[in-house]
Amino acid sequence: MAALRSGWVAPAGPDLDRFEREIADRVGVPHAVAVNSGTSALHLALIGAGAGPGDVVVVPTLTFAATANAVVYTGATPVFADCDPVTGNLDPDVLSGLLAELSAEGAPVRAVLTVDLYGFCADYDRILPLCDRYGVPLIEDATEALGAAYRGRAAGSFGWAAALSFNGNKIMTTSSGGMLLTADPGLATRARNLASQARLPVAHYEHAEIGYNYRLSNLLAALGRAQLCRLDEMIERRRTIRDGYAKVFANLDGVRLLSGDDPGANCWLTGVVVDPERAGWSARDLAAHLAARNVETRPVFKPMHLQPVFAGSRAALTGAAEHLFDDGLVLPSGSVLADGQVRRVLDEITEFLDGRR
Ligand SMILES: *Cc1c(COP(=O)(O)O)cnc(C)c1O
Repeated sequence: MAALRSGWVAPAGPDLDRFEREIADRVGVPHAVAVNSGTSALHLALIGAGAGPGDVVVVPTLTFAATANAVVYTGATPVFADCDPVTGNLDPDVLSGLLAELSAEGAPVRAVLTVDLYGFCADYDRILPLCDRYGVPLIEDATEALGAAYRGRAAGSFGWAAALSFNGNKIMTTSSGGMLLTADPGLATRARNLASQARLPVAHYEHAEIGYNYRLSNLLAALGRAQLCRLDEMIERRRTIRDGYAKVFANLDGVRLLSGDDPGANCWLTGVVVDPERAGWSARDLAAHLAARNVETRPVFKPMHLQPVFAGSRAALTGAAEHLFDDGLVLPSGSVLADGQVRRVLDEITEFLDGRR
């Protein structure tokens, strides 16, 4: 309300500056540039890395389309890499083989993108040394992982640049919004300028390159600051919900929670992975049971290499992402779910499991 009354309704104002500072401090990176979506943040990071026509960028195949789309916006080509079968995050062995191959071919690799899928960090102890060895910058798609940590270090602090999202479905929201994070002051300055139509700091509207209208509004930044105060509470709620699922699926042969049990995760979304041979039922059976009782579930992301729009793209595959797409199911995980709603979902799952015993 204070932001509305202040008259700072444009993509400039005190809440915007404070929101950037608060997020940068929370994640522990020097610079934050607030933008109108996570996709915009990824796009600006990729431009900053110099990605353009003729270049390639390594992208995990198991992700939301925005990760790969941002690469295409720059004119570069995504090369997809398969995931770890347990976490669903970029498989370091696959990345190692792919970077060796691309390097032997002399391919211009401008960046490696990682995605901290569903709020669980990728394996940075193994991925960062690989990026170093090949001299390729890491861009961290941390859009699902604000508040998560990997070995005590915050998601969003691993890459040369990282993207956060405050879309309506994320762990905290500005309805729509995002943030570019970096320790590189040059990238921060360039991204801030590109996000404001690349207007140069003179009075007469001077532009030396093509820019974008990507800044976040001050009003939405004010929403973000209020949400940030509640972030830990909302993460705690998602963890509690995940614990409920862990109990209900415990000790079932062929059934496990997707992503593993990293205690640093923000538990944005909880999924289950079912081996139908061993369990005697499939993730789709469970989805149908819940849908018939008005409980919405979602498939795990369909891998990018299976998408019509990326048909024919190069991909280093093990089958892990396809397996998670076929046998995984994402369960209701929102922090706004009331205790009674969570209990009802767990009861419906218990009823389903009892019927299968
Ligand atoms: C949400 C999301 C994005 C894009 O964020 P927007 O703010 O919706 O543009 C990018 N990558 C992943 C993995 C996401 O989940």
